[in-house]
Amino acid sequence: MFSEDEYLMLSGIQHFVFCRRQWALIHIEQQWEENFRTADGQVMHRNVHDANFHEARGDTVITRSMAVSSARLGISGECDVVEFHKDGSGIQIFGLNGRYTVTPVEYKRGSPKENESDIMQLAAQAMCLEEMLCCSIESGYLYYGETRHRTKILIDADLRERTEKTVMEMHELFRKQYTPKVRRTKSCNACSLKNICLPVLCRNKSAKDFVKDMLEKEE
Ligand code: SF4
Repeated sequence: MFSEDEYLMLSGIQHFVFCRRQWALIHIEQQWEENFRTADGQVMHRNVHDANFHEARGDTVITRSMAVSSARLGISGECDVVEFHKDGSGIQIFGLNGRYTVTPVEYKRGSPKENESDIMQLAAQAMCLEEMLCCSIESGYLYYGETRHRTKILIDADLRERTEKTVMEMHELFRKQYTPKVRRTKSCNACSLKNICLPVLCRNKSAKDFVKDMLEKEE
C-alpha cells in the first residue's frame, strides 16, 4: 500500500507507455510540464471537464471529472466520465435508488493509438473505481474525437496485470528520480517534447543543464 504523498498521476500512464523518457521529463523533471501542456493542448478535455457535474438519462447517471485514487497502485487522477447504469447485479450508490454497475469512459482528442497507453489508463481508472466503490468493473469505453466513436474495452486479468506492472515501473523510476535515456524511435516525430528532448539526448546532457543553458543564452 502506498501513502498519499507517494501517489503518481494516473494520467502519466499514457506518457510512460508512449515513452518512459517523456514520462520522466514531465513527471520527474517538472520544468517540462508547461512545455508539454502548451504543445499538447486539451480542448476536448476542457469541454468534457466543464460540463455539469452529473446528470441522469433514464436509468443511467453520468458523472464527470470524478476524482479517483488507489492506495494499492499508488495513483490518483480523474475520470472524464463515469456512467452508473441501473442493474440489479450492481452496487448501491449513496443518494441513488436501486443498484448500479460502474463504467468509466475516457475521452481522447485524436484517433485510436497503436500502443496501449489509452487502454491502460482506462484500466487504471477502473481499478481505482473498484477499490473506492467496492465493485467489479468488466469493461469501459474509449471515445476518440477524430472518429467520434466509442470503443468497448474489456478490463480482463491480462490487461490488469500489464497495467499494474507498468505503474510499479513508474514508482521504481520515481523513487530513483531517474530520467532514462532511450533510443530515438519513429515515435519521437510525434512527441511534443522532441525539440527539447532530442538535443539533450544527442549531446548527452542532463535536461536540467540544457534548460539552464537555454535560459542563460536568453539573458
Ligand atoms: S523526443 Fe523521443 S525520446 Fe524524447 S521524450 Fe519524446 S519520444 Fe521520448
